Amino acid sequence: MYPFIGFAKDIHNLRHDQTRPLILGGITIPCEYAIIAHSDGDVVYHAVASAILGAMGSSTTIGEIFNDQDSTWKNMDSLQIVTYVMQLMEKQHYAIHNIDITIVCEQVRLAPYLQTIQKHLMNVLHIAHLGIKCTRFEDPQNQQIECDVICSLINHN
Ligand SMILES: [Zn+2]
Repeated sequence: MYPFIGFAKDIHNLRHDQTRPLILGGITIPCEYAIIAHSDGDVVYHAVASAILGAMGSSTTIGEIFNDQDSTWKNMDSLQIVTYVMQLMEKQHYAIHNIDITIVCEQVRLAPYLQTIQKHLMNVLHIAHLGIKCTRFEDPQNQQIECDVICSLINHN
């Protein structure tokens, strides 16, 4: 049995905003920034869902399924995206084998929250281990947040 590999990258812009929470992998990060997005802008959930879709050999993007022109998805909890993709995965007899996540952000220090995000994601994704780390753009001006995810799935069909 060989694994199916998927990769995804999601990027959103940040802005100074203390009225909107910054949410990564379902965890609220206390900081002065918010992610600009139609949904809650959770780059981690977006990239995880997209990498899983990629590993399944899908040509559909989460942006097509959860169209940002559709007001149904305004400020949506991105957990819905992950849940949807996991249901699709289970229907096609795939299970997650491994996931590795890198979050890139210059403005917010994320290291103190990684373990909390990791634990939460393992619960959500029903897996016993998951790699997560953060790094920076090495550019003080950078106002973005990026998440890169690689995952492997096993098919039990
Ligand atoms: Zn996104």
